[in-house]
Amino acid sequence: MFTYQINIKGIVQGVGFRPFIWLLFTKNNICGFVTNTTDGVYIEANFKDKVHLKKIINLIYKNKPKPALIESITFKKIVKKNFTEFIILESFKTKEKFQLISPDIATCKDCQKEIYDKNNKRRYFYPFTNCTNCGPRFTIIKKMPYDRENTTMSEFEMCADCKSEYLDPKNRRFHAQPNACLNCGPKLILTDNKGKLIDEINPIKTAVNFIKQGKIVAIKSLGGFQIACNALSDSAVKKLRERKKRPTKPFAIMFKDINLVNDYLKINKSEENALCSSKAPIVLLKKKKKLKEKIKPLSTFISYNNKYEGAILPYTPLHHLLFKFLNIPLIMTSGNISEEPIASKNDEAINKLKNICDYFLIHNRDIFSKYDDSVIKVFKNKEMLIRRARGYAPYPIKLDLNIEDKVILAVGSQEKSNFCILVKNYAIVSQHIGDLETKETLDFFTESIDIYKELFGIEKFDVVVHDLHPDYLSTRFVMENFDKNFRLPLQHHQAHIASVIAENNLLKKRENFIGFSWDGTGFGTDSKIWGSEIFLIDKKLNFHRIGHLREKFLPGGDTTIKNPYRMAIVYLYEYFKKNNDFKDTKLFFDFILKNFKFYKNILNKTELDILISQIKSRYNSPLTTSMGRFFDAVSSILNITHLSTFEGEAAINLEMSSSLKTNESYKIKIDINKETKEGNLIEIDDFFIFNQIIIDLLNNIKIPVIAAKFHNTISKIVLDISLFLKNKYNISTILLSGGVFQNNILINKIYKTLEEKKFDVFTNFKVPVNDGGISLGQAYLAAVKLLNY
Ligand code: ZN
Ligand code: ZN
Ligand code: FE
Repeated sequence: MFTYQINIKGIVQGVGFRPFIWLLFTKNNICGFVTNTTDGVYIEANFKDKVHLKKIINLIYKNKPKPALIESITFKKIVKKNFTEFIILESFKTKEKFQLISPDIATCKDCQKEIYDKNNKRRYFYPFTNCTNCGPRFTIIKKMPYDRENTTMSEFEMCADCKSEYLDPKNRRFHAQPNACLNCGPKLILTDNKGKLIDEINPIKTAVNFIKQGKIVAIKSLGGFQIACNALSDSAVKKLRERKKRPTKPFAIMFKDINLVNDYLKINKSEENALCSSKAPIVLLKKKKKLKEKIKPLSTFISYNNKYEGAILPYTPLHHLLFKFLNIPLIMTSGNISEEPIASKNDEAINKLKNICDYFLIHNRDIFSKYDDSVIKVFKNKEMLIRRARGYAPYPIKLDLNIEDKVILAVGSQEKSNFCILVKNYAIVSQHIGDLETKETLDFFTESIDIYKELFGIEKFDVVVHDLHPDYLSTRFVMENFDKNFRLPLQHHQAHIASVIAENNLLKKRENFIGFSWDGTGFGTDSKIWGSEIFLIDKKLNFHRIGHLREKFLPGGDTTIKNPYRMAIVYLYEYFKKNNDFKDTKLFFDFILKNFKFYKNILNKTELDILISQIKSRYNSPLTTSMGRFFDAVSSILNITHLSTFEGEAAINLEMSSSLKTNESYKIKIDINKETKEGNLIEIDDFFIFNQIIIDLLNNIKIPVIAAKFHNTISKIVLDISLFLKNKYNISTILLSGGVFQNNILINKIYKTLEEKKFDVFTNFKVPVNDGGISLGQAYLAAVKLLNY
């Protein structure tokens, strides 16, 4: 016999790993012990020889519990010890503190069976049922190691029955830290919107009855409150929109099961797998054009003309139990006021949501970390993250570099913000925090950084990366909290592209790349607003900006971002000046109203006067190369969207209005050698395209055709420029990032046309292609600089 120590790292705590080891070792008559440490799972045991040891290690890899992720198993022979049995020891602390943490896991099949089982006295209808394979994790952990006393379950003392499950290695609940039952665990109650108790005996059934009557009910879920109402009822959905002050942004829909999803939405195998996975994200699925007879349609107020619906399945026992009494789909949206963080405490929720929700299903298990539902779509049979939170964060992204004992913090951008901590060869991207524009969001942001430091055993950051924008709250947070020597400012669009390199492990390819970094807004190194940047990136990840759209004015800044019709005027003004002698705004105003009658209710002469004077005087009128604004202008001139109530709305509606049948496109004018202050650049003439759109409009070409031609043109620009650069620099790897590539028509077309020409194309799957991916790119670029690649 030889004694070996074995170290297992990865997501190995809170996922039933020790009972699995106990069973495996006991079955194979191996003596020793297993324990959790602050950095993973540690085993000492006696083996016949090295072959025997390796056989067992193979079995660990092969049969590991489903939610576990093994990053490494290392072993070492030590002084022989005499073990007589195999036992599980209490957790102990090690010097090394870094270890991975499991995201929350959707209710497993076994637990689902129990809560529906009338004969199960302790778990029938118990909404907090969980086991080592499922239940809350990240949201309840206050510190490591992951033991009950370090979670928000610490205040519930297990009853004798729960305790015996917890102590029995053969039991599914062995060392399940949140283990609880009807007799000892958290309790659910229903209150009204003043916090007055309505029902504590059958709160779920009563809540369901209210939902059936068209009421709006807040539900305390895993990572915060959700708001539910009948998704088939126009009046309920409309009421929710009015109360939530959310006029058009689509809501997610929770379906009882996959069959019900099938009634309404098209779903392929990969999408079904994602939807049914233990991560249980919201999956964007195409609406069916025709429903079967007898199926009552979803309310059109959920997503209006969007061709997709966000579908999600029940992922907590509470959700499953709600659907026990319901055959209708439910709106299931975040319990927050507009862009504020999701509410997670009972008082806070009732206080903040009392004017939105009629009733509150609440309980006394605290949520330690707020955690929104994740949103994904499937592209090329792979999950593509749009909002990365529950089920995904804080799962690490493995990198192709290792910063050893250094730690990097990157604070991201402003919209869809999150942060990223880079430690060793892991990028730990936090859950989605929200738009960093209010004190509430900033608090959530900074508290979360503290939580991550505690959970991952991080004492200090060696480098802190922030955006170039001086007014972002993330930038200010870094300025106020970190010394100059630790700070590293990085450009927004470079970070977008770096995120693609990071998640696809492209650095090791030692190649040059072409990057298209297209979005709405990002602060440039010249202090202008960038957004259609084309980069040449060398092997050491030095970025050279080699092209963009024509620079144009953004009169009024943010006002124009929120009001796409103002951007259309900027383009129209150019068109008008070209074809007419511009004397005063009166003639221009008449021209607009004569040809585009819909502007009568949107634009008045005074606003036009100010807008034109802002352009002429350049007062409060920054220069931009934004691609997002180009989409805005086109969306408005086609009379699709004139006001954006959420980021990207005008562009999304333009995509949805597009015919998929047209292959035509507009003529493209690209100056490959435009002289600028920054040197000679490629300049794409977006006005030239816009003018052709106006002519199409004046010739009464149909809107869906024009919208399609526009999309085809943008994708052709990417192809033409890629071909030109391939010829010039012999580069054939194209990287795409930035919110513009969230557009389904574009991403499909661009991939198809580039791949036909034998390009390698990469974009974001693991982090959002929108600004939710910025922090990863920032951290990665900083690491490359730190390591002096
Ligand atoms: Zn379970
Ligand atoms: Zn119990
Ligand atoms: Fe961006």
